[in-house]
Amino acid sequence: MRLFSDFKFLLFPTRCFGCRELDYSICSKCRKLWNPHLYQSRVSNLAVYSSISYSPVAKNILLAAKEQSVKSADQLVSNAIKASLYELFQKHPSCALVPIPSGRTSNRRRGREFVNEMAISVARDFGVAVLPILEHQRIIRDQSRLNISSRRENLAMGLSIKPEFLGKYSGENLVILDDLVTTGATINEANRALTRGGFVVKAAATACVALRRRE
Ligand SMILES: [Zn+2]
Repeated sequence: MRLFSDFKFLLFPTRCFGCRELDYSICSKCRKLWNPHLYQSRVSNLAVYSSISYSPVAKNILLAAKEQSVKSADQLVSNAIKASLYELFQKHPSCALVPIPSGRTSNRRRGREFVNEMAISVARDFGVAVLPILEHQRIIRDQSRLNISSRRENLAMGLSIKPEFLGKYSGENLVILDDLVTTGATINEANRALTRGGFVVKAAATACVALRRRE
């Protein structure tokens, strides 16, 4: 049995949001798993920089940040994105960040645009702009609850450039930003929409990468 010296913990026991074990908000085992490394993968011709290998624990941490707005989970995701961007900017400096938009229904449920918020929180550190250029062509279901084949189907509907960004900023160097890359379908679609809109996409960055589930 573990002993907790914190009196508050005895009154309000909490569970680790990574593994659900009785512990502080994140236990040391899960904290160790969320240790940024550089993972570089490719989606078509685009280099994708990530820093955390996706696992059941990583999934729970992402969900705690996205769905429950757990502050320390937000911090972990933001640190992972920073680690990915740090490597990316060595090769492609001064690119503006383009967050992948989430579906409208998930925004309504969460009350916030998660990836956009993450982008804003890290952009300051690198002195780059955040350009929320992309939107969904149609209302889609939340990706995180879909399996891979449904994801592909879901994304066939596609992303497009918001009307207010058409003809502006074209020629600007961009980095696509998302929390997770699995099949690469989302990043591929974002790359297609941005390139078609006259933008120059240099690379993509995510917090997590699903290493064994790539296409
Ligand atoms: Zn844990």
